[in-house]
Amino acid sequence: MDDCLFCKIINKTIPAEIIYENDRVLAFNDINPQAPTHILIIPKVHIPTLNDLERDHRNLIGELVLVASDLAKELDIADDGYRTNFNCNDSGGQTVYHIHLHLLGGREFGWPPG
Ligand code: 5GP
Ligand code: ZN
Repeated sequence: MDDCLFCKIINKTIPAEIIYENDRVLAFNDINPQAPTHILIIPKVHIPTLNDLERDHRNLIGELVLVASDLAKELDIADDGYRTNFNCNDSGGQTVYHIHLHLLGGREFGWPPG
């Protein structure tokens, strides 16, 4: 999608620190990290929000979570623990409308979130 920031990162027209990539997903460092590790894991197809998911996206969404799990182990934050989350729409705190799974680690997180 032409005016989507994360599609531009996928197309490499905007640079990012890429951590992992395959044909279906891309993981890159958040530009404004909220923890020592803060990675965004996104599908390469443009899906604006979780509200736009269809049953056919089942494997793709599962892959985002699996990539988070794999990266957490590779980056040695898995044993201590980490936070993953999708924000959805305004009240959920979503600011970029291409779904992304946040992977945050390297510090302790409070609950409930603010
Ligand atoms: P949201 O608030 O939509 O859940 O998360 C969007 C995230 O994208 C934020 O954590 C923000 O820092 C990050 N972000 C916004 N613009 C850019 C950018 O140009 N590059 C990268 N790497 N991250 C970005
Ligand atoms: Zn997009």
